[in-house]
Amino acid sequence: MAISKKIETFMTKASWIRKMFEEGIRLKNEVGEEKVFDFTLGNPILEPPEEYQEILRKYIAEPTPGSHRYMPNAGYPATRLKVADYLKKTTGTPLEAGDIIMTCGAGGAMNVSLKALLDPGDEVVVIAPFFPEYRFYIDNHGGCMVIAESADDFDLDLAALKAAIGGRTKAIILNSPNNPTGKMYTAERLRELGDLLGEKEQEAGHPITILSDEPYRKIVFDGKKTPSIFDAHANTILITSHSKDIGLPGERIGFAAISAQHQDRSILREAMTFTNRTLGYVNAPALFQRTVALAQDMSVPVAVYQNLRDLFCVGLNEAGLRISKPDGAFYLFPKTPGEDDMAFIRDLQKEYILAVPGSGFGRPGHIRLSYCVTEKEIRGSLPGFRRVMQKYN
Ligand code: PLP
Repeated sequence: MAISKKIETFMTKASWIRKMFEEGIRLKNEVGEEKVFDFTLGNPILEPPEEYQEILRKYIAEPTPGSHRYMPNAGYPATRLKVADYLKKTTGTPLEAGDIIMTCGAGGAMNVSLKALLDPGDEVVVIAPFFPEYRFYIDNHGGCMVIAESADDFDLDLAALKAAIGGRTKAIILNSPNNPTGKMYTAERLRELGDLLGEKEQEAGHPITILSDEPYRKIVFDGKKTPSIFDAHANTILITSHSKDIGLPGERIGFAAISAQHQDRSILREAMTFTNRTLGYVNAPALFQRTVALAQDMSVPVAVYQNLRDLFCVGLNEAGLRISKPDGAFYLFPKTPGEDDMAFIRDLQKEYILAVPGSGFGRPGHIRLSYCVTEKEIRGSLPGFRRVMQKYN
């Protein structure tokens, strides 16, 4: 076989994604698209804000010579300055343009950071349930993933983290607000984690960097605000993108911001500029760097997602499902009535409802429902959820 054994194994491990996708297509072909309630995809439904589209139109209508050329690998200095100023204003951290590496989305920023940090065999702690791609990103750079379970309400479990962090731990990935749970960690809990990491760094004799993956940092509800990760721990890299907050996932634009307090700030700037280049990204897309520079404080209307969350949570609670109400992002992660999440998924499919098994996120006994859908789809699915739950009751 031409492909590597490792990739073959990974593809098998991730095959539930393909199965869900194929099942969705089969059902839609069989009964018609409008009869299928597909909650599997985290693909933003909201279009980029009109004020952003206006900026985009202007750049296309009035091109400047040289605007399609290569640029410094970390991105346009003017864009990096705008991003640094925005973060300085909103987090109070004295970031400079040099701390910002413009990347191909949060996925790109994660790979650029891990490549710069890891030697083969170094460990990276992730908190279950977790975004499934982390496993592959860490492996891309020779790292070993170590899983720490979260608490029942998906909050940080400091005892579990203490046990998971060891002498070879180079980084810990945080994702708040979280995919798949919607949980957002409080400033206080993050400070407790920072204290723990401080102790562990002393023991290990090297920095343990928080990679704070925050593509949902602006998608938070009930008047809450995502706390600044820079206040929790000095050795931190904030990772985000404009896939969700401006609704540009197909354009691959995001950034990594190295904390002004990171003890290796200066060498990390150089290392991540280098890895952005050698991973083959070379630089983040030029047009989108120019335009998001002017859109740092923009966001899609978050109230739309909040209303969908409320509608879905109430409906599913009435059907008898147990859910920790999300603080942000656009996912629900209810407990399944039995232990076997795949059996529950199959029962839902009989009602033409598509969901993703929690086992794919490292937490069986749950399902993930993405509410990047219309109100009509949520309302239409609820009788099916009720019928399935009656079977279990
Ligand atoms: N991290 C998390 C937790 C995500 O949910 C996603 C996308 O769904 C990504 C990273 C990747 O985002 P991007 O499209 O910016 O690469």
